[in-house]
Amino acid sequence: MAAPKILPPGSTIGILGGGQLGRMTALAAARLGYKTIVYAPDDDSVAGEVATLYVQGDYDDRLALEWFGERVDVVTYEFENVPEATVTICEQWKPVRPGIKPIHFAQHRIREKDFLRKAGIGTADYQAIRTEDDIEKATALPGILKTCTEGYDGKGQARVATKDGIKAAWEKFGKRECILEALVDFQCEISAIVARGIDGQAKCFPIGRNEHRDGILRTTHVPSGLSPEILKKAEAYGLKLAESLDLVGLVALEMFVTRDGRVLANEMAPRPHNSGHWTMDACATSQFEQLVRAICGLPLGSVEVMAPSRMENLIGDEANDWQKYLADPSARLHLYGKSTPRPGRKMGHVTFIG
Ligand code: AMP
Repeated sequence: MAAPKILPPGSTIGILGGGQLGRMTALAAARLGYKTIVYAPDDDSVAGEVATLYVQGDYDDRLALEWFGERVDVVTYEFENVPEATVTICEQWKPVRPGIKPIHFAQHRIREKDFLRKAGIGTADYQAIRTEDDIEKATALPGILKTCTEGYDGKGQARVATKDGIKAAWEKFGKRECILEALVDFQCEISAIVARGIDGQAKCFPIGRNEHRDGILRTTHVPSGLSPEILKKAEAYGLKLAESLDLVGLVALEMFVTRDGRVLANEMAPRPHNSGHWTMDACATSQFEQLVRAICGLPLGSVEVMAPSRMENLIGDEANDWQKYLADPSARLHLYGKSTPRPGRKMGHVTFIG
């Protein structure tokens, strides 16, 4: 078999999705001399405005996707809810990295958990809730009821303690297909971000320890302060996941560390991840550069930590404090160029070094 083709600097990377992850990928690509075309349905896109070109098109607009596919050398996506059909169309033109497999599993919480278990990655107990009968049989209590699709940042989730509680939440979610997960008594949440290249070589970034509020990531600490055994387990899970997905690109695996020291996977995202933003300022290679390297067939960069760091998300109005961060010599400020600071909207982040 011929060796996979390396896409040298000067090539064009197509990015499906127009948000901040696409923006930071486009900036990292530009730094290495690549061109980018961002494709998204939005009128304006914070990724599109820093890319070489922005194509506004719907995810089912075959003609626009073909136009896009013809002009790029490789395609990636910056969010996991891009429709599978969109990826199929792009694949007729150029390689999509990572391809359909990771989004097939990441888009549906039961498929995702089944896949993790099959790959030998531990998870909390869970069961499918599709009918009233399923509710009657439920045992994973107390638990969290989550819609199988389209939930993120804590949306489409409810804590439940009884069967009546499940029923009320399930009805509130429009009786959609749900997963009931046993509530994990965790000491902390962590994430592994793994890059895997076209040659199958993989590297895991140092594990970050994450703090969430209202289901939204607030802070990531690296180093995490966890024991070498826990870090080894978490890293092994991340690498196992990338291997099982035949991944070319980046995948993040969010996990819980239980009070009795077990590591349980929560969910995966086959793209750059908010908990990896610290790498832009405190790691030898950023997660965005690593993604570019992986999908273009370049050698993966070093994941050495250059300095201890704490990444804080700037949500809603918090981004208005930009002057404060600019005045702080330990702070590295990143703003995403979004015009309206709605509550819960990720407007930027700041990494404190040292
Ligand atoms: P998710 O959308 O699945 O990432 O969940 C958002 C947040 O809810 C997680 O980061 C946890 O803080 C919390 N959470 C989700 N699932 C569980 C669980 N099974 N047990 C305890 N906390 C959870």
